[in-house]
Amino acid sequence: MKKNTFVTQPSLPPLEEFIPYLQKIWNNKILTNCGPFHEQLEKALCEYLGVEHICLFTNGTLALVTALQALRITGEVITTPYSFVATSHSLLWNGIKPVFVDIAPDTLNLDPTKIEAAITPQTTAIMPVHCYGHPCDVDAIQRIADTYNLKVIYDAAHAFGVQRQTGSILKYGDLSILSFHATKVFNTFEGGAIICPDAKTKVRIEHLKNFGHVGEVTVVAPGINGKMSEFNAALGLLQLKYIDSAIERRQAIDKAYRERLKEVKGIHCLNSAGEEVANYAYFPILVQADYPLKRDELYQRLKDRGIHPRRYFYPLISDFPMYRGLPSAHRDNLPVANASALQVLCLPIYPDLEMSVVDEITRFIAEQ
Ligand SMILES: *Cc1c(COP(=O)(O)O)cnc(C)c1O
Repeated sequence: MKKNTFVTQPSLPPLEEFIPYLQKIWNNKILTNCGPFHEQLEKALCEYLGVEHICLFTNGTLALVTALQALRITGEVITTPYSFVATSHSLLWNGIKPVFVDIAPDTLNLDPTKIEAAITPQTTAIMPVHCYGHPCDVDAIQRIADTYNLKVIYDAAHAFGVQRQTGSILKYGDLSILSFHATKVFNTFEGGAIICPDAKTKVRIEHLKNFGHVGEVTVVAPGINGKMSEFNAALGLLQLKYIDSAIERRQAIDKAYRERLKEVKGIHCLNSAGEEVANYAYFPILVQADYPLKRDELYQRLKDRGIHPRRYFYPLISDFPMYRGLPSAHRDNLPVANASALQVLCLPIYPDLEMSVVDEITRFIAEQ
């Protein structure tokens, strides 16, 4: 390798195109508090994503925390241990007890067939993750939610632009949250959003993300400061101009990886896009027992070559100290998640990744 190649490299638009946005901000001196760029980005994202209502946030984690508050979720929430730790942290921040349920081996998403057994009288909601941007079994999850009168909040941090045949994946459940962090498919450096189905819920979320303020003298809830600044919103507007070409480029890399790894014994490529519109956010492989090396050996050898994949998701959330004492965190309760966490490796994928590097990575994996 000539230089180090990391799992992701943030997409940036041409710098000179950002200057006029900055000039506008400097001229009108509106820096935050839902200014003109904030409003424009909400409109543009609704249109691009094909959703009715969106509330922008300063990051995805505060969007998750606020989504739970918007629906007044309490007690226990069923969720996946196979995610980024912010998913469960948002529950702890609200004094809610996470209840971990195992994942399905084909998608590594929450396994709907295991959900019912975890429901108790304290359960109020299900919080699944569209892991790697691959849609959860939203129909099965909704059937369970309807039967037991539970809310569904999707952590859709990986799922920007993902669609099923019926339209955006973000329209399922009661609320979905997005992250626009630097490492995600669409980024505003830091940022996030809640997708909500109706104007009334949007108003409540807007109060909650602005200290609970309603007008000048009234505060209706102990809200947080979750507002996105004009700088980040302007950046989002510019990034949106390049998002289609960025996803196309990711698709080409995904295809190349699949073709080149197809014949490699013991390497399983996850989640090939089916009917749905995918975003190619990650390229996860499973290093299985018939591969000559263990996952961590391959991980280390790649790193020694200057290739830096990530073990998303290892360790499992359920193994972190603030979660591992929960009965549902026990390894016997989560066999698929535990096995997957020991096999998974996310290979580098981002729009500027050169095909020659993809060739080199796949050749190196095949040669071991
Ligand atoms: C990135 C991510 C988050 C957190 O989003 P931030 O914008 O970084 O706060 C939450 N959940 C998942 C699954 C993520 O990947």
